[in-house]
Amino acid sequence: MIVGIDLGTTNSLVSVFRDDSFEVIPNSLGDFLTPSVVGLDDEGQVLTGAAAKERLLTHPELTAANFKRLMGSSSEIKLGKKKFRPEELSSFILRALRLDAEAFLGDQVEEAIITVPAYFNDSQRKATKIAGELAGIRVARLLNEPTSAALAYGLHHEKECRYLVFDLGGGTFDVSIVEYFDQLVEVHASAGNNFLGGEDFTEVIYQHFARLCAQVLGRDAEALPPVLDKMLKFRAEQAKLLLSTQDQAALQQKWHDQVIDLTVTQDQFENWAGELVMKIETPIRQALRDSKMRAGDLDEIVLVGGATRMPLIRKLVTRLFRRFPSVQIDADKVVAAGAAIQTGLMQKHAALEDVVMTDVSPYTLGVEISRQVGDRYADGHFMPIIERNSFIPVSRVETVCTVSDYQPKIEVRIYQGENPMVKDNIFLGSLTVDVPRKKRGEEEIDIRFTYDINGLLEVEVEVKSTGKKSSILIEENPGVLSKEEIASRFKQLEKLKIHPRDQIPNQALINKANRLYQENLGATRDYISELLANFDAILSRQDEREIREAREQLGEILNQIEEDPLAQ
Ligand code: AMP
Repeated sequence: MIVGIDLGTTNSLVSVFRDDSFEVIPNSLGDFLTPSVVGLDDEGQVLTGAAAKERLLTHPELTAANFKRLMGSSSEIKLGKKKFRPEELSSFILRALRLDAEAFLGDQVEEAIITVPAYFNDSQRKATKIAGELAGIRVARLLNEPTSAALAYGLHHEKECRYLVFDLGGGTFDVSIVEYFDQLVEVHASAGNNFLGGEDFTEVIYQHFARLCAQVLGRDAEALPPVLDKMLKFRAEQAKLLLSTQDQAALQQKWHDQVIDLTVTQDQFENWAGELVMKIETPIRQALRDSKMRAGDLDEIVLVGGATRMPLIRKLVTRLFRRFPSVQIDADKVVAAGAAIQTGLMQKHAALEDVVMTDVSPYTLGVEISRQVGDRYADGHFMPIIERNSFIPVSRVETVCTVSDYQPKIEVRIYQGENPMVKDNIFLGSLTVDVPRKKRGEEEIDIRFTYDINGLLEVEVEVKSTGKKSSILIEENPGVLSKEEIASRFKQLEKLKIHPRDQIPNQALINKANRLYQENLGATRDYISELLANFDAILSRQDEREIREAREQLGEILNQIEEDPLAQ
């Protein structure tokens, strides 16, 4: 069985194509969105999704979120005493989605199409594939998120249409220009920013809240206690969501015996977010320029990603394109829907028989070369081999020669980027080949770059005089695990205990109660303690029906308690 997976910065979804249509699969809590949060409980068992998200505030040192932003880097994230790589944390989410899909479909899931931001680079894509492997899933294909959304929209419309997909997620911004005609979904250009997303908008509200707290507590905004700091981040996220439906968000934060008022208005928010909004315009211009289109050529603007719910984004889109954006498919589900459709295309599903999709590479790939300046050679110049927005798959070859007499080797250093000097681009890896010692310029090598449909790069180097080919293993690819490392990580992960799926709803509720206990004071705390003790007693009796009823009841009560701090 194959499924589609939208592995998001904030939330993830799993979907399937069956009975001629796509379906988003609910998780064990009945939700379509699974928070991309991983934690360890007090016994060291792994928690994922809502159960982990509830502990972000109460157990920050044992819980991690937003790790998609670190994919492809060599960072490690500490949960208690254990350290995890971003792809390992992602693998826990993927595994949870796989188990949810298997329970829903009653079938084993071996394969998946996973979506990634179009602007993800080679290391980030490889890390995503590795996350799949670690979760026991064969990654049949990586699909660009905006392309996935475009596929869902194209098939939804069933008429010729040129549209711009505006995808603002938690941590990334992608824009793609897509045309749909004659059952062909053609991506003309993609551009984006890997470090711009909804979380950056939360950050500006958080900065404001930190200043307000610092004033009340008579401290420096940078020196607030870490627990308060985390709570303020949480409040900032709440305020941002409120500002999507109202003009002002008024929250309160308790700290010991003080109550701090945290208020932010839509106007203030728009003011502070001005710089971020300006950053959004840059990739839009680039994508239009690369596809040789003007704003007026577009029929529709499609919004994708949770962060496009912010009114300031809708205003921006309306101002830039002088029209209202389309939101016919739920912005949260559209990427997952496209991934499911892509699984249908791969399996040559009858309902999708004539549909063809093409995609592009969003950035330029090339190598470092030396350029002759007068009598000398100067290093550090960039020679593009595959230019950005080429249709993929694509394969191109360039020839370079030795630059000094009797040079024994040529090192091919591979970069991604749009700048003339390699120091301003991203280093992807290197490969060294031996060449016969000859006078400079007499030995040549062919460098072939092949960029596959997953956006993964293969490099092949052929020494022309000997015909010797070194097909790639890009050495020193920073941030990517080697095969041996993957095998050993896999073994280590197997040893970790993962919470049984049937216990997750109970665990999520207990964590929520604990968070609310921490947020409240006095009589409410006593009440929560009592509820927790009761629930614990019921769990220990292990009667499934009794547990289900108690869970529903406790859920409702906790929801009521949760509403309090948001009172205006
Ligand atoms: P995604 O990666 O598509 O799940 O997008 C997640 C981002 O969308 C996060 O930064 C959320 O805070 C943000 N988001 C989700 N819902 C809303 C909303 N109603 N208003 C503003 N931002 C939202």
